[in-house]
Amino acid sequence: MKIHEYQGRALFEEYGIPCPPSVLAENRKHASEIASEYAATVVVKAQVLSGGRGKAGGVKLADSPEEAAQKFSQIMGMEINSLKVEKVLITPAIDIAQEFYVGLAVDRAGHSITLMLSGSGGVDIETLAVEQPELIHKLPIDPAAGFENAEIDNVLTTVFEAPERVSQAKSIIGNLYRLFVEKDCSIAEINPLVLTDDDQLLAIDSKINFDDNGLIKHPELESLQNDEEYSADELQAKNMGLSFVSMDGNIGCIVNGAGLAMATMDLIKHFGGTPANFLDVGGSSNPEKVLNALKIILNNEKVEAILINIFGGITRCDDIAKGILMALEQIDIPVPMVIRLIGTNDTEGRELLGQAGLTCLDDLSEAVKRVVAAT
Ligand code: GDP
Ligand code: MN
Repeated sequence: MKIHEYQGRALFEEYGIPCPPSVLAENRKHASEIASEYAATVVVKAQVLSGGRGKAGGVKLADSPEEAAQKFSQIMGMEINSLKVEKVLITPAIDIAQEFYVGLAVDRAGHSITLMLSGSGGVDIETLAVEQPELIHKLPIDPAAGFENAEIDNVLTTVFEAPERVSQAKSIIGNLYRLFVEKDCSIAEINPLVLTDDDQLLAIDSKINFDDNGLIKHPELESLQNDEEYSADELQAKNMGLSFVSMDGNIGCIVNGAGLAMATMDLIKHFGGTPANFLDVGGSSNPEKVLNALKIILNNEKVEAILINIFGGITRCDDIAKGILMALEQIDIPVPMVIRLIGTNDTEGRELLGQAGLTCLDDLSEAVKRVVAAT
């Protein structure tokens, strides 16, 4: 799950990472009021779930309240990386002596957290990573051992130099590490962490992604969810308790179990088709879920055929069949449907579907070939 800069700043504050004050501006007038309150040059910042806002013109300085209102109007509603700006943040402008980059990310292969640090942070960090990767220090942190180690101290000294600044940086990065671990982040970045003219370090941007699998441990993060992160279908599926990802093909898939769903998509590709979605109805037996799944799939106009692939273990095939029959009664299914049912109560399931004139297959390859042929 991604969050906006302003939401990340609130977490930074909670974790003792210093950042300048900021307020979301409701409208033009409010923007100028905030700027007069700060009585200084302000930065007007687009809040979108994407980086590169500065380069896209979504971060602008304003020298007066009038200018702040003007910049607010320019930025609100603009598109950045195909995302519409619907929130604008205003913060006092900082005089920057140097921009640092600080990042933490999960390194799955290394079973660790990677700390990334650079004395050349800012909007060109991606270019720097490609052209001068030696300027970005990377070191693994063993989550069992934690943030304290001599190697980190060495890199901090290399990057931040003066002892006073090194100890400030260490406290900030230590707090970021604590946030990262406690909230189950996959990425936490401060870019830039700036050095002010009076030698203070301040975070003036935040990027935080949470591991979706950790969210169940954090009810306090639920309110931070931004609907624009998901397609309308994905959001609907999320609210119905279905695991769904939209894709760009034309074969709608309803499968039980994530592994089987992936294997099903592989097989569709293997036989020359393209899946319209990944959908896992889960292991439970709930006819309602099948109905909901069909509704979501049929929202997608690209769908030309549907494949239902159920390998019944805990899932009972007769419950799936009941869900299909419920859907036939309640909604119009204007495309061919190929059903493969096997496992627990498959005889009962087949019988129910047979009475409604639907046939099911038990061979998956055969089912996939048929659905591909139907498109
Ligand atoms: P991003 O482009 O989406 O990463 O947005 P940032 O919030 O990082 O802002 C982009 C750039 O704008 C920063 O790297 C700074 O160079 C500049 N910037 C942002 N805030 C300030 C500020 O308070 N003062 C000054 N002088 N520049 C700023
Ligand atoms: Mn940034």
